[in-house]
Amino acid sequence: MEKIKIGGYLINVDYDDKLIANHQCVGQYSSIEQKITLATGLTKQQEKETLIHEIIEAIDDIYELGLEHDEQLCKLSAIFHQIVTDNKNTISALMFCD
Ligand SMILES: [Zn+2]
Repeated sequence: MEKIKIGGYLINVDYDDKLIANHQCVGQYSSIEQKITLATGLTKQQEKETLIHEIIEAIDDIYELGLEHDEQLCKLSAIFHQIVTDNKNTISALMFCD
């Protein structure tokens, strides 16, 4: 299981093949379980978009940002996905600049 560190919390990333059937969503963040769950069977692009969205859900929760979901959180995750996807050189430079 993958883990993501956000603000001192270790968030587990897991997959659930019944997430779409049971919850009608492709991703879920649980602050109680400190866990991000992704649906199985997504395309690589959907999986990446969903993971970024749920990471921002976690940031919003942990730092109590109070982001409005559709107007702010969804737009931020779309923007991050675009930046990460279209700027691979910059992202890898950032990863190796220390
Ligand atoms: Zn959401």
